[in-house]
Amino acid sequence: MGVGRGWGASVVRRSVNNNSNRRGWTGNVGRRIPRVDTTTRGTRLLGHNDHNHQWGLGGTCRVVSGAASAAEMYCDACGTRTVMRVPDGDNRERRVCPSCHKIHYINPKVVVGCLVECCRGEGDGLKRQVLLCRRGIDPCKGLWTLPAGFQECGESTSEGAARETREEANAEVRVLAPYAHLDIPLISQTYVIFRAQFKQALDSGGAPMDCESLHSPGEETLETQLFDLDSIPFEKLAFSSVKIVLQSYLEDIKRDRYSFHHGTIVKQPGVAADSPQFSLTNYMCLPTEHKL
Ligand SMILES: [Zn+2]
Repeated sequence: MGVGRGWGASVVRRSVNNNSNRRGWTGNVGRRIPRVDTTTRGTRLLGHNDHNHQWGLGGTCRVVSGAASAAEMYCDACGTRTVMRVPDGDNRERRVCPSCHKIHYINPKVVVGCLVECCRGEGDGLKRQVLLCRRGIDPCKGLWTLPAGFQECGESTSEGAARETREEANAEVRVLAPYAHLDIPLISQTYVIFRAQFKQALDSGGAPMDCESLHSPGEETLETQLFDLDSIPFEKLAFSSVKIVLQSYLEDIKRDRYSFHHGTIVKQPGVAADSPQFSLTNYMCLPTEHKL
């Protein structure tokens, strides 16, 4: 499916194809569309004002910006080289085809995922764990993340979150509630994370169940693991968004009530994705009726 690659090479591919035609340049069978040499142009293919996570030296995942000039972009409808222009009635430059006049809008992408919790026992004996995946692909290969990836066309955010969990952790989950919505303007992404639990555990009616048998690494995952809340590997998390979601979850546990979390992650270009150098603004923590 090519999904679940999360933030790696697929970012490049999907950014190029953004919006109006997901097949983009290379999928335009029957038309002579110029191909671009990705080995020499690299992330500059990302498009106007677009950005990418890129694997860097030293084992960190870096955020790089790669504004491509309009001269490098071709119309995915007719193959003509596009120009940057403010269309009539608009207020910002867009990539516009001078031949067929198609406007190639580039908008943020949605990453959907699940915070899968496993609750065993009850009362004072209740044990909570969360499911994390160790990434098997760049960027941030080897680091831990929530099962998440880009929302596909034709699916809802919750369907996408469950699908990504199935693909990355071979886990069948039931989405229980929206949990967090985080924007990252620097890389034009927005995260929609749902709280979920294993279907089999929910269907068991609370009977004791070993959730260890309910997950395993998907194709792009090195390993999956249920972590006790006091052993979440915060020092080895892949992304700032994942860190915020997990920290929020721990705070909810302390408050004994689930909240819905919203905020904007602010980074400076060039900082590592797993760096603590980011801030959270516009943060809202909205208590819900859902008790732990
Ligand atoms: Zn055109």
